[in-house]
Amino acid sequence: MSTLFHLPLAPASATRDERAQPRAVRLSLTDRCDLACLYCRPNRHDGYLERRLDLDAWATMAAGLVRAGVRRVRLTGGEPLLHRDVVQVIERLAALPLEDLALTTNATRLAKLARPLRDAGLRRITVSLDTLDAERFARLTRGGDLDTVLAGIDAACAAGFDEVKLNAVVLRGENDEELPELLRYAWDRGIVPRFLEVMLIGEGATMRDRVVPAAEMRARLAEWLVDETPVREQDRGPARYVRARHDARLKVGFISGTSDTYCKGCDRLRVSSDGTLRPCLATNDGLSAEDAARAGDEIRIDTLVHEAWKMKPDGETFRGCTEESAASVSIRAIGG
Ligand code: SAM
Repeated sequence: MSTLFHLPLAPASATRDERAQPRAVRLSLTDRCDLACLYCRPNRHDGYLERRLDLDAWATMAAGLVRAGVRRVRLTGGEPLLHRDVVQVIERLAALPLEDLALTTNATRLAKLARPLRDAGLRRITVSLDTLDAERFARLTRGGDLDTVLAGIDAACAAGFDEVKLNAVVLRGENDEELPELLRYAWDRGIVPRFLEVMLIGEGATMRDRVVPAAEMRARLAEWLVDETPVREQDRGPARYVRARHDARLKVGFISGTSDTYCKGCDRLRVSSDGTLRPCLATNDGLSAEDAARAGDEIRIDTLVHEAWKMKPDGETFRGCTEESAASVSIRAIGG
């Protein structure tokens, strides 16, 4: 079991160089997914990792990450709700001294799992949904059922999470006309919508002509938004937010991984489902912490995290997902 609570914790307010250690981590519970979005993976069954961490190994991994200074955890994948122990993983993580515990999902299994996840201690949830048109949804996801996902979102709204967000990747000539509809759908339910440029990594690498720059998305929504410069929120990732014109409590986020990068100050580490520590989404660098996680050795994980962090590209000069090297990265393997 964890000896974590006997240790002095790093101060919550980061006065030191923010990049000196990772503060936020995304854990890819599984690289498997039951959808195959066109910009993410070639099909539903492409080359799965051979080994994946189990519940105890994830608990050790998380405890080691907290020792190393991590304060915010998001579960992702692949599709994290396909992991058979996802509720128990949340329960174990909720016992750690974290400032945030969140999860990103395609919502195919959320109708059943929203309440158990909330009860287990999950605080915030993000659902990926690119369209409200059933046919388009099936095409974009290679076979997904829109109604199942909408039922999942309803369940999330009813479960009482601190925040529900919606992520929509915008593709020119596909769903770019749907921005106002998605905005209204989200705002009507108290959900925070976020529109993402398609990143030119993995399957997205061939989609340069489909990119809709965040500035254009914003212009398309201008009549609903205040005319102010979008702002980033402290400890809330790369999105820049703009408030609604008619109600200052509502906002919409834009994520510009392609027209602009946000590597400067990035404090994010990723852990893939086989226990590899990945310091950057746009490189294939990584360090395996699998053995330490399986052996229950959180002290070793702390050491490995600091080793892996040395591989993080310099945020001043590195251009993230716009670098040539990013095209060879598999977002499904690293975890989105
Ligand atoms: N399966 C979960 C889901 O659908 O939310 C979690 C994993 S998924 C890889 C996480 C997010 O990455 C999703 O919102 C997805 O749309 C986004 N994503 C995947 N490939 C992308 C790309 N090439 N460009 C932009 N976003 C991408």
